[in-house]
Amino acid sequence: MRLVLLGPPGAGKGTQANQLSQHWQIVHISTGDLFRYHLAHNTELGQSAKEYMQSGRLVPDNITEAMLKDRIAQPDVLESQGFVLDGFPRTVPQGLALDALLAARHERLDRVVLIEVPTDALVQRLVGRRTCSVCKANYHVQYHPPHVEGICDLCGGSLIQRDDDQLETVKVRLAVYHEETEPLVSFYRQAGLLATVDGNQDPVSVTAATIQAVKGGSHD
Ligand code: AMP
Repeated sequence: MRLVLLGPPGAGKGTQANQLSQHWQIVHISTGDLFRYHLAHNTELGQSAKEYMQSGRLVPDNITEAMLKDRIAQPDVLESQGFVLDGFPRTVPQGLALDALLAARHERLDRVVLIEVPTDALVQRLVGRRTCSVCKANYHVQYHPPHVEGICDLCGGSLIQRDDDQLETVKVRLAVYHEETEPLVSFYRQAGLLATVDGNQDPVSVTAATIQAVKGGSHD
């Protein structure tokens, strides 16, 4: 199963990708997490991505595509039943690059699921989000607080607010989504791959709707 989750920042792509990877035993690939790993380890790639990420803009396609190409060639991906991409592609050129990478392996995408959430809900979700600095689990100050303030329920790590979850950066990220990523919706609709789910409900219902959409229940 090869899936792409599409949707604005804060739509819940990471949460849903986690669920789908467990459901189908496929690898969850998040380009945002990969970049954050490189940033935390101060690699050359991390240094090239830093400014873009901190300002909420997209890292240039050539850098992102090279990172993704490397990731999908790793043994865990090659040996698994597929992958769910979260945060890639984010531009039409990245979508074309993904097609080419898969075609070279005689593979193709099975489904692209667009998770839709109204903008005001996205802003609330993002600015209230807290992320575990160790295991990356997500919390929300209002909707999903940890048992002990500032501490991850799962691993005891400290919770942080991502730099790019500050309000001003959130606004930039949403504008970038509309300008650069939204054109992928018609790109995948024309390819007959797109399904849409309502992401403005509890995560368990979104997962159920997403699995249904992937199985073919709700074409766009
Ligand atoms: P995310 O965690 O998916 O919201 O990604 C965090 C940041 O990483 C984004 O705001 C971008 O700066 C960068 N990033 C992640 N994925 C991509 C991508 N496919 N293309 C360009 N930049 C990306």
